[in-house]
Order: sequence, then C-alpha cells, then structure tokens
Amino acid sequence: MKILITELIWKEGIEELINNGFQVDYDENLWSNREELLRKINNYDGLIVRNQTIVDQELMAAGLQLKVIGRLGVGLDNIDTKSAKKMGIPVVYAKNANATSVAEYVMMAMLSVSRPLHLADYDVRKGNWDRKTYTGMELAGKTLGLIGLGEISHRVAKRAKSFGMKVIGYDPFIADYDHIVSETGVQIKELTDLLAECDFISLHVPLTASTKYLISETELQSMKVSSYIINTSRGGIINELDLEAALTNGSIAGAFLDVLEEEPIHQSNKLLTCSNAVITPHIAGLTEESQIRTSLLVAKEVAKVMKN
Ligand code: NAD
Repeated sequence: MKILITELIWKEGIEELINNGFQVDYDENLWSNREELLRKINNYDGLIVRNQTIVDQELMAAGLQLKVIGRLGVGLDNIDTKSAKKMGIPVVYAKNANATSVAEYVMMAMLSVSRPLHLADYDVRKGNWDRKTYTGMELAGKTLGLIGLGEISHRVAKRAKSFGMKVIGYDPFIADYDHIVSETGVQIKELTDLLAECDFISLHVPLTASTKYLISETELQSMKVSSYIINTSRGGIINELDLEAALTNGSIAGAFLDVLEEEPIHQSNKLLTCSNAVITPHIAGLTEESQIRTSLLVAKEVAKVMKN
C-alpha cells in the first residue's frame, strides 16, 4: 500500500511507515501544487499532511483508494472532517505531541517581555551600558489569562504557576470540576472579566465558526494598556486589522503572533510595521523533540488504520 506525504515530516515517521511495509512518496512542497496533488492522489491509500494542504471534498473524492488521512500536528481546520466522516475516511492526528513545545514558546514570549536579554545584549554590543532601560519586571504576581482550556493551556498553566503567576481562564466547555482546574488551580472567568484583568493573554482554541475573530476591536479595547496578547492557536482568531489598530494606538502594549490569517505572511501586512509585534513563522509547536514524537505518532496511527 502506498502513502503520500505532502508536507514536512521528520525521517523517523517515514522510517516507521517503511518498516511497516508501506511504500512512501514524500514531497514536502506538494501541498502548494493543487493540480498535481489532485492528479496523483488516486494512486494512494494514505495521505499525510501538516497544516497547509487543503484536504477538502474534491481532494478526497479524487483519492478513490484513500483509507486514512494523517495530520502531522493538531488543529484540523485545513481538513474537511465532516466530508471525511461521510466518506468513511478516518482522520488521525498528533494529539498532544507538540503541546509542551507550544507551552514553552508561551513562557518564552512572556519572559522576553519581562527580561528582554536579547535587546540588552544588542545594546551592549552597540557600545552602551544602560542599566535603567533594561530594568526588568517579575512574572511572579502577574496575571495570565488563557482562552481555551485544553491540553496546551494545561501545560502553560502549570509552568506559569511555577513562576508565581496568577492564572485565570475562559472556556465555555470546561467546568470548575474539570481536571485542568484541580491540577493547575486555574480560575474560570467570563471572557470580559478575563480581558480586563490580565497582564498577558494567551489563545489556545481551535479555529471554528465560534472562535473566528473571537478577539476583535471590542475585546482588544477591554484589555489593559500594559497588556500583551500571545496567539499560537490560529490566524483568524484575532482580527488582524483591529489588532494592528490596537498596537498602533497603544490600546495594548504588544503582541506575539506565531500564526496569521495568511501564511506565509504577505509583505503588505501592516502588522509587519508594528514594532510592538513579534511575529514568528508558525514555529510554536516546532522543536526536534515534538517533531520526532509527531511523525512517529502519526505514522503509527496511519499504519494501524491501514492494517485494519
Ligand atoms: P485542545 O482541543 O486540547 O483544547 C482546545 C480548547 O478550546 C478546548 O478545551 C475547548 O473546549 C476550547 N474551546 C473551543 N471553542 C472555544 C470557544 N469558543 N471559546 C473558548 N474556548 C473554546 O487543543 P490544544 O491541543 O490545546 O490546541 C489548541 C490549538 O492550538 C489547536 O486547535 C491548534 O489550532 C493550535 N496549535 C498551534 C500550534 C503551533 O505550532 N502554533 C501547535 C499546536 C496547536
């Protein structure tokens, strides 16, 4: 049986598939050539993608032998899961495999505000010795708000708590008795209260109809002027035009954006002109460890479905 991989995968995953007796065709750029993908898909029993291949009804219908779709990560917004279900094609993904990496990215974002060592080092190398400007602040005692209280937030909450932060959260699907509350002590709040109280807000929701533009002008205006927003979830959860306005007029202090509505970012995106925005190329979940875990987990899950 043949498996097509259309985006970046670590070699451990490919080896796992080959060891299971599958023929693997790997082209990490195929996601960007829709016509070729539509032409080829009919020859494959399994498809493995990351977040850029659009797996819609048309593609699945063209893949007449398709038995399984593997997603190298979490966040299934590039896959039409309803159509997959109707067509009887299971979608497997790397649940939790990169959650620790994303949580560490969030801690790094907050620490780079409280202790901007890289900026101080740059300044020293320019010939300065400015101790006043680089007086930091402590994360201890600051309030972190987590929007979406799933696996990533769980790990962020644990880490932030160990730094002495107060952690509050908003998630309409989580109750006070859920394990994230008992294990991390996160306090559940309404969104409006959370927005007004926090020094840092970090988004950890999937992109769905109900989370699209969850953070727009009204929400940004409700935040403290000294606060920072961190988005590692998906572009489209923050309204980028409203965010650019909030960053420019000083309604909030800054933003960390790992994900954008259009990826790669378009050079005309005004967020690039905001010096108080830190923009990274969708790398929050990308570490050596998480990618080995992700590729192995998805390869094993795909193999399991195909052997059934
Ligand atoms: P998860 O499924 O464990 O948790 C998501 C949480 O969001 C759930 O508790 C759910 O109840 C909550 N939620 C859903 N709709 C909501 C709403 N309208 N308001 C508030 N809460 C809502 O997911 P996770 O593993 O924590 O990942 C979260 C997201 O992070 C993923 O969907 C993915 O898009 C993104 N992600 C990004 C990267 C990266 O590299 N940047 C890596 C991994 C995951």
